[in-house]
Amino acid sequence: MPHLSPKTEENTKLIEYVASRTGRDSRLETCIQCGTCGGSCPSAMDMEHTPRDVFALLRAGERETVLSSNTPWICVSCYFCAVRCPQEIKIPDVMYTLKSMAITKGAYQDSAASDFSQTFVDMVENYGRSYELGLATRHYLRHFPLRLPSMAPMGMGLLSKKRLNLKPKKIQGIKQLNDILDRAKELEAA
Ligand code: SF4
Ligand code: SF4
Repeated sequence: MPHLSPKTEENTKLIEYVASRTGRDSRLETCIQCGTCGGSCPSAMDMEHTPRDVFALLRAGERETVLSSNTPWICVSCYFCAVRCPQEIKIPDVMYTLKSMAITKGAYQDSAASDFSQTFVDMVENYGRSYELGLATRHYLRHFPLRLPSMAPMGMGLLSKKRLNLKPKKIQGIKQLNDILDRAKELEAA
């Protein structure tokens, strides 16, 4: 019986490796380069590479270019591309995989985006949900302190309409949620 090596980044084509790291069946390798995703994406103007370009780069094995691209960080997970993709590729899920790989490799140079993700994860681990006021305040204080005063009117408006909470609230099942997150981390490490 032939010996099958586990899939590692070293022994696998980049596109196959990214597909294997993506939780659900991403169908990444079925991309036909039609461009519907980029044409549908509300954030495409700010992306260094459209999702279609990213998938072509993955196929070409251009790991450094992909992992240093701002594209996964600009993606807002609206899933519009995934709904319209003729190949039913789980595009936002692939973006999450690329973010994770970029953090692990320290490949993305602008720390503001990865810090924002980490702050969001911290909030979820502590409270079981996002705490928008704390998230925005921490992020702006750390990276864009001079812009903070200009955000105040919007924050006050959201508070007055009860669209923001002044204090964070923990969900009831925070322990169970953290057990699930711990298990997910164990599986990822394995
Ligand atoms: S819409 Fe789907 S098939 Fe078309 S380029 Fe984007 S990912 Fe590929
Ligand atoms: S999920 Fe991301 S890549 Fe897809 S359309 Fe939305 S922002 Fe663009």
